[in-house]
Amino acid sequence: MDDQKSAKDHKQIGQEQELFFTNDIAPGAPFWLPKGMIIFKEIEKYIRELTKDAGYLETSTPIMVKSQLFIESGHWTKFGEHNMYNLQPSDEADDSKSVSYTLKPMNCPESTLLYRFRPRSYRELPLRLAEIGRLHRREKSGEVNGLLRVRQLTMDDAHIYATEDQVLEEINSILDMMITFYKNFGFEFDFRLATRPELFAGTQENWARAEKALEDALKSRDLKYSIKDQDGAFYGPKIDVHIKDSLGREWQLATVQLDFHMPEAFDLQYIDNDGTPKKPVMIHRAILGSFERFIGIITEHFQGAFPVWLAPIQVSIIPIADRHLETAQKVAKQLTDKGVRVDIDARNESMQSKIRSATLQKVPFMGIIGDKEAQAETPKVSVRERSGKDLGVLDLSQFVQRVTEDIDKKI
Ligand code: ZN
Repeated sequence: MDDQKSAKDHKQIGQEQELFFTNDIAPGAPFWLPKGMIIFKEIEKYIRELTKDAGYLETSTPIMVKSQLFIESGHWTKFGEHNMYNLQPSDEADDSKSVSYTLKPMNCPESTLLYRFRPRSYRELPLRLAEIGRLHRREKSGEVNGLLRVRQLTMDDAHIYATEDQVLEEINSILDMMITFYKNFGFEFDFRLATRPELFAGTQENWARAEKALEDALKSRDLKYSIKDQDGAFYGPKIDVHIKDSLGREWQLATVQLDFHMPEAFDLQYIDNDGTPKKPVMIHRAILGSFERFIGIITEHFQGAFPVWLAPIQVSIIPIADRHLETAQKVAKQLTDKGVRVDIDARNESMQSKIRSATLQKVPFMGIIGDKEAQAETPKVSVRERSGKDLGVLDLSQFVQRVTEDIDKKI
């Protein structure tokens, strides 16, 4: 694809295709326009499908919680109180005016409250709790950048509570999801295993076992990986996934982390089959990380030419003259009935100018209707791709099939 110099950045594409924008009124928080929201929702739907198939249960936890939670979790000192938004609501009706609140920068501590909702048995493990949650992080104003560096983000987060014996299988299942997901976007990717840092929670034996489980999972499926020595989080080792986009840039997106600290800090337990209480292992994982950053990256990766399943408009119907409008509407209806997103360009412009504008908007297919198509016995459409490739005159049913197949295959 384009080299880095001629490539457009996601903010410019976002503006041209009316996907999203930022405004000084909310630095670091994007405004999503209807077309951008289609992309966001399609990715969200896909992530939900993947997680549901892998046995996750969806949850939701509050955005604003008492700061005390992050003091107990250790994030207050480790993540930094200054990286969070802390508030002191002054209109509290009760006597808690001195209580400080925080907009959550991550979901993990609240997830442990879901786990502790009631006593847990080994029979319930692995318990996989997913949350597509909105987070706030205090990035410096000079560092916020479109969708790539934001203060308000939406994460495809999940926490898995498992016995030690279940860890390997869970890691494998997470790697499967990551591979399926990233292949769909045509990314090259590789894995980095980050090991025990100098300061760590838990015991050396636990760390050794956990690092081995992560490495075994990578080895067992012949995945390309390297070791980032001593780069694990203080609470456990992790595998980070790095992708390479069409412009040759590297991004760290997905992560899977083992955690020995949080089950300790929040006293998580399950009753084992011998009746004794044990500590579960907590696994944190995100497949795409933040939706905002991911959409920023793919906007540049595809240079706005999103795959058909993501394209806000999938087919632009172009009637050559007003007398073709009725046929155009019939064609559009057949497509929308199958769930295809269609736009009819009924402007009083030349066919060439309509084709140019659909091409600039990177609409995957153009369906042109002239006399020949409108007068055919069975409905027909002249089809063009945004690349300029002419697919010739197709029966409408053939065209509908082609578009819906591309959508289903996530092409
Ligand atoms: Zn987490």
